[in-house]
Amino acid sequence: MSALVLGHKNPDTDSIVSALAATNLYRGRGFDVKAVAQGTPAPETAFVLERFKLQAPEVVTSVAGQEVYLVDFSDLAQAPADFAEAKLLGIIDHHKLGDVTSDSPVECFIWPVGCSNTVIKMLHDYYKVAIDPALAGAMLCAILSDTVLFKSPTCTEQDKQAAYDLAKIAGIEDLQALGMEMFKAKSNLAGATPRDLIFRDFKDFDMSGSKVGIGQLELVSLDLITPELKAQLKDELAKVKGEGRHSALLVLTDIMEEGSELLLVSDDADKVAGALKATVSDKIWLPGVMSRKKQVVPFLEQAFKA
Ligand code: MG
Ligand code: MG
Ligand code: MG
Repeated sequence: MSALVLGHKNPDTDSIVSALAATNLYRGRGFDVKAVAQGTPAPETAFVLERFKLQAPEVVTSVAGQEVYLVDFSDLAQAPADFAEAKLLGIIDHHKLGDVTSDSPVECFIWPVGCSNTVIKMLHDYYKVAIDPALAGAMLCAILSDTVLFKSPTCTEQDKQAAYDLAKIAGIEDLQALGMEMFKAKSNLAGATPRDLIFRDFKDFDMSGSKVGIGQLELVSLDLITPELKAQLKDELAKVKGEGRHSALLVLTDIMEEGSELLLVSDDADKVAGALKATVSDKIWLPGVMSRKKQVVPFLEQAFKA
C-alpha cells in the first residue's frame, strides 16, 4: 500500500500542490507514495490545476492503519480525526511546529519561509529530482498564493528565488499577471454560501485549551463584500462559534490595500481584538495584516497563555 502524502483540512493551493510536488519528490527518491487531500479544490486551486492540466488528488478523510507524510501542517486539529491510528513518516511545512507526534524517527523539513512549495523546490534540488513544467507552474502559483504575490511579511528571499526558478522551468515570464489571474479566480464569491466562504480557508487552533477557529478570505477588493453579505457572514460566524469554539474569526484581507477587516464572535472579544492591537467596533480594520500565520495566530496564542 502506498504511503499517503497529505495536506491540511480545508485545503488551500499550497496544501494541494504540496501533496503533488512532495509525491514527485518522494517518488524521485524511490518511495512508494500517493498524493491525497482532505477536500476538493477551492476556486483558486481549481484555477491552478486547470491552468496547468493537473489532476486534483483523491479525497481522503480517514488514515487509520496507513503510512502518512504531512505537507503544509503539523497540527492535529488540521489532521483527519483518526490520525492517531496512522504511522507518521515525515513532515514538510512552513508553519509553527504543531502537536503531532510519532512512535519512530521521522524526516522533517520545517522551515520559516513563505510557502511549503519553497521547501519542496529546494528539496528537489538537494535530492536532484526533476520537476516537469506543469508541476513547476503549479508550485509557482502556490508560492504566489501563500506569499500574496511576495507582499506578505512571511515572504523570504528563498521564496522569491524558488518562484523565479520554477517560472523558468514552467516557461512563465509574467509572474504578476499569473498571480493576479489566480487571485481574481480566488475572489470569485459567486454561488458560495456564507458558510462555504468562512470554511474556504479555515483553521482551528487549540490555544491553551480554548478552541479558536480562524478563516481567511484573500480578495482583490473588499468591495466584493457587500453590506448584506457582511451581515450574513457575521450571522454564520456566530453559528460557527456556537459549535464548540471560544472564538470564531474571519479575516477579510484586501490584497491590494494590504490590510484586513476582522469579523469576530468570541466569549472574550476584547481580549481577541486587543491581542491584535484593535478595539471591538462595527468595522475592525487591521492595517498591514495579510498573514494569519505570522500576524494573527502568534498574538492570539500569547493572549490565551496570559
Ligand atoms: Mg496551507
Ligand atoms: Mg502553506
Ligand atoms: Mg494562505
